[in-house]
Amino acid sequence: MVLSAAGIRFPIWAQAGTSVAGAARLLLGVDYYPDQTPEALWEEDSRMMAEVGFTNVRIAEFAWALMEPAEGKFDFAWLRRAVEILHKHNISVILGTPSAAPPPWLMVRYPDVVEVNAQGERLHPGGRRFTCPTNQVYRRLSLSIANAMAREFADTTGVIGWQIDNELTLSSSQRCYCNFCQAGFQAWLRSKYGSLDNLNKSWGTVFWSQTYTDFSQIPVPLPSGGDPNPGLALDYDRYQSYANVSFQEEQLVMLRKTCPHHFVTTNNVGLPLDTIDLRSLYEKLDFVAFDNYPGFFEMLLHQEANGPISPDTIPANIALGHDFARSIKGGKPFMIMEEQSGKAGQRTFSPQPEKGQVRLWTHQAVAHGAMGVNYFRWDTATFGAEEYWHGILNHDRSKSPGYVEIKQAVGELKALGPEVLNSNYAADAALVFDYDCSWAVKIQPGHHALSYMAQVTSWYGAISASHTGIDVIAPGADLAPYKIVFAPVVYVLSEAQASKIKSFVQGGGMFVTNFRLGVKTESSQIVRTPLPGPLRDVMGVTVADYVPIYSAKQGVKFSSAFAGPDGQCGIWADILQPSGAEVLGSYTSGEHAGEAAITMNSFGKGKAVYIGADLDAGSLSRVLRTLSAMSGVKQPFDVPPGVELTLRKSGDKQWIFLLNHTSVAQTVSIPKPLTDLLTKEAYSGTIELRGYGVRVLS
Ligand SMILES: [Zn+2]
Repeated sequence: MVLSAAGIRFPIWAQAGTSVAGAARLLLGVDYYPDQTPEALWEEDSRMMAEVGFTNVRIAEFAWALMEPAEGKFDFAWLRRAVEILHKHNISVILGTPSAAPPPWLMVRYPDVVEVNAQGERLHPGGRRFTCPTNQVYRRLSLSIANAMAREFADTTGVIGWQIDNELTLSSSQRCYCNFCQAGFQAWLRSKYGSLDNLNKSWGTVFWSQTYTDFSQIPVPLPSGGDPNPGLALDYDRYQSYANVSFQEEQLVMLRKTCPHHFVTTNNVGLPLDTIDLRSLYEKLDFVAFDNYPGFFEMLLHQEANGPISPDTIPANIALGHDFARSIKGGKPFMIMEEQSGKAGQRTFSPQPEKGQVRLWTHQAVAHGAMGVNYFRWDTATFGAEEYWHGILNHDRSKSPGYVEIKQAVGELKALGPEVLNSNYAADAALVFDYDCSWAVKIQPGHHALSYMAQVTSWYGAISASHTGIDVIAPGADLAPYKIVFAPVVYVLSEAQASKIKSFVQGGGMFVTNFRLGVKTESSQIVRTPLPGPLRDVMGVTVADYVPIYSAKQGVKFSSAFAGPDGQCGIWADILQPSGAEVLGSYTSGEHAGEAAITMNSFGKGKAVYIGADLDAGSLSRVLRTLSAMSGVKQPFDVPPGVELTLRKSGDKQWIFLLNHTSVAQTVSIPKPLTDLLTKEAYSGTIELRGYGVRVLS
């Protein structure tokens, strides 16, 4: 009921209130590959899945070559047999359309569909996600196989929904620069700007003699002896995102028509990847589906990090992904389409999940708003590029270390039931994530070490450490539901966004931002007014100068509001000149010693805080947590470091998730008696959590 109230269209099986494997409206399943498994094992697999308690599988998203062995010649007999065997064991099926990996015959016949990377090099077949999102031939062939699947399975008992393609955000080159994309870009620009005069003015093409006299002259940002026009480069990011969204929407329109009783979604790896605007991608889909690999992410961090990784980094980054997934559709519950179940990797293995971690990751997703979890994958492949990607069964089909935990977690989620899984996540704070800012900062970071995504993740980590519920919102979102809004590096700022921020602060909200505020317009031109541009009155400061920091050290001395040791300023210092704002921090060194680094302005009924310095992690955490407290954000009770506290609510009911992300036992003091819904044990005074332990309290 909560889902339908939230505007999510139920598939027939849920609308009728019927049950799937005894678990109405739950999606607790596994990603399964009958195409990679001898048919003699399908029956045993289905029986074992039912024993775990799974309600559904996702299948066929990489089986194009088997389903269409030659162009226009379809074979779904094997897939139908698999669906029937699964259904016999009460396992429902989510079908994946296979456009992420085309078969070899297609590549030989239509070699032009291959993507061209940022160096102008054409990729090669043999991997996955190597095709152009604009190419009309590839779109036609992708739609053709998806359409044939849809017609075949529209009325097949047991099929409940669709995943379009697979991980559109995850490609090696992230952008295609081929001739088809150039033509698509030119057509998109014609539609956006209407006239070349508008486009030339918007980009400032008079610079370097780039004035275009025909849309066909407009290039894509390939290497050309100098950096591209910033306006062109930002529009190209927007176009590539649009091309992927419209590629998906062609399949969506067909599925809506052919399979009106099925739900439709797609799965993606979310932040920190910013390749496609996921708010646009999911706009017309029924719900957001995400893939969650905490261990794989940890391995990537180890490969990139220069030093040790803080123990809070992984849980905070994963929580950021979940909060973003939930916020994309305004708080509607989302699904984990792939949840890590063991070691994961292509050439190297991620760390072995420690005992309890797979269950912990499952509950963390639910705590942040997941309504269903599919584990990746059932059995572990003995061939192909993902042989190292462990499933619930090992290579020899013995049960993996994760098997017992997954069975336990599935049982627990069924026992918690649809009410908890479809409840609302409680957030008093919001963090703004803006694709335009992310792309524009990548195009011109201003300092080689400045990363928008790193700023967003470090701000999220600092805020989430205070156990404040956080939504991750678009820059133009309604700010009224929040007490405090955090927005780091608002490099691109539209008048409309500035006006929303102004109203929010005027109405009593607290807006917290930092350096590079309001530098650029949506056309990626620098504003002609003193910084911070359209927010000067709200922030109560003028940026007297901005200073990228390389060798010279800079420090920050805090006022009593942020009492603590002096902070270090890393790569950037906006020198603030207050015009009404109170100074809460000042620089300590060089010619700017004594000048304002952090200010707070009273504007209307609210406050606007400008953090001009790129603060070290400890200082940033102290400042943001202090501001959270000042804004009136409250947590139910304190928990020790490494323990996460998250709330979900439905009407008067609330569920407190306590998640211990450390390997050691933790004791939490609780202010009132609470019952663990998983064990039915009642607690008062204190509650124990074992290493990687979970409590769901009410
Ligand atoms: Zn292309």
